[in-house]
Amino acid sequence: MRNFAYARATSLKQAIAATADGAAVIAGGTELLNWMRLGIADADRIVDIGQLAELRGITATSEVIRIGALATLNEIGESELVRTGAPVLAQACLKAASPQLRNLATIGGNVLQRTRCPYFRAEAATTAALPWPCNKRAPGSGCAAKDSAFSRLALFGWTDECVATHPSDPAVALAALDATVHVVSAAGSRDSPMTDLLLTQEEAATQSATAGTARRGNCAAIENSLRRGELIVACSVPVTATSRNSAYIKVRERESYEYAMVSAAAGVALEGARIRTVCLALGSVAQKPWRVTAAEVSLRGQPLEASALDRALESALATARPVRGNEFKVLLARNAARRALLVAGGAL
Ligand code: SF4
Repeated sequence: MRNFAYARATSLKQAIAATADGAAVIAGGTELLNWMRLGIADADRIVDIGQLAELRGITATSEVIRIGALATLNEIGESELVRTGAPVLAQACLKAASPQLRNLATIGGNVLQRTRCPYFRAEAATTAALPWPCNKRAPGSGCAAKDSAFSRLALFGWTDECVATHPSDPAVALAALDATVHVVSAAGSRDSPMTDLLLTQEEAATQSATAGTARRGNCAAIENSLRRGELIVACSVPVTATSRNSAYIKVRERESYEYAMVSAAAGVALEGARIRTVCLALGSVAQKPWRVTAAEVSLRGQPLEASALDRALESALATARPVRGNEFKVLLARNAARRALLVAGGAL
């Protein structure tokens, strides 16, 4: 690990100035330190924003829950405001990582974590020392995962450059709930829908082509739409009938502590025995939470029954493009989504 300079920000203004100057941001420390240890990041300056009180706290009105970027996953998961207004988010937070990590990991850092693809997470001091190709680490080198036995790969939005998925659980719930992410920078502040914060590989390639920076393999490193110097300060979750009746289902290889093979975040508002509105997002099937909008539309007016749900989900998931060896994830995704919808609607 190389030497780096460390500074603790005592105001948001200081943090913004340091970030604009190219300093890497640390808060909980559960991601950046891993990147530095593995050789993924080689920051020479770090600004610690963990003491900024204005980025903490969870508050709510009858219409919206505002969550500071430094709220930890355990704080969100145990918050009565979140548990009643948006249970899917509380559940997603408590199903992420281990209790110890959840005490440190912040919501702002969690949604910006990077893929768990093992080829990307290999320890290598330099990209030249990486023992296999990985376009995210070494642009243009190739993708070792695509033809490997590793099956936790994307179903949607991937390109030949990269087939990795995004591992965050809370991000899936925030996308399903139409949350807004608030960011600041030296240029001012702006809001981004959670659904636009993270990018699929296809979206990253399109943006690079539009900007005239496309080069074989170099889009793989692009994972979100944050601009240089931007800092997440909070996110807002609308409280609706759908958010109040919501649930998160996570399918993983061991229950105690593991990233999702597939997950589903769903909310259901009923009118009598029929569905008025649903929201649905899948996790670990793309490099961003994957909103299943076709199913959301076709389920309106349908009964909340397994057969109706399966019809809508199978039709919506027909656009999946499994990578060799992960075809089984399509069925897992359908089953997870069906279960999430049934639990959210009180039918399970
Ligand atoms: Fe994994 Fe993407 Fe690297 Fe391929 S390019 S090895 S999918 S991170």
